[in-house]
Amino acid sequence: MEPKKVTVTRLRSVLDQLTKGSEKSIGTYLYKGLRVQISKYRASGSERFARLYHRRRSQGQCVVCGIKVTQKNPRTGRLYRLCPTHREKIDHKSD
Ligand SMILES: [Zn+2]
Repeated sequence: MEPKKVTVTRLRSVLDQLTKGSEKSIGTYLYKGLRVQISKYRASGSERFARLYHRRRSQGQCVVCGIKVTQKNPRTGRLYRLCPTHREKIDHKSD
């Protein structure tokens, strides 16, 4: 995961969320050239995958590669969960 450059204010609010037990604090941050990583200790692969999936889904990114999805599914009116490349590769196979 690429670290996000953060200000001290942002870092403090991350710590706030962390002490409140919020999973919103999870992430990799870059502060003064140092990496601060907050992640679940011994999270299973599937937990990690589920979190990544939901984060990408809620941000309108392809759940496989993370690039921005711009096309909507005409049936549901929601953004596709996959970019055109992965939609081609994955969705069409199950048709
Ligand atoms: Zn993709």
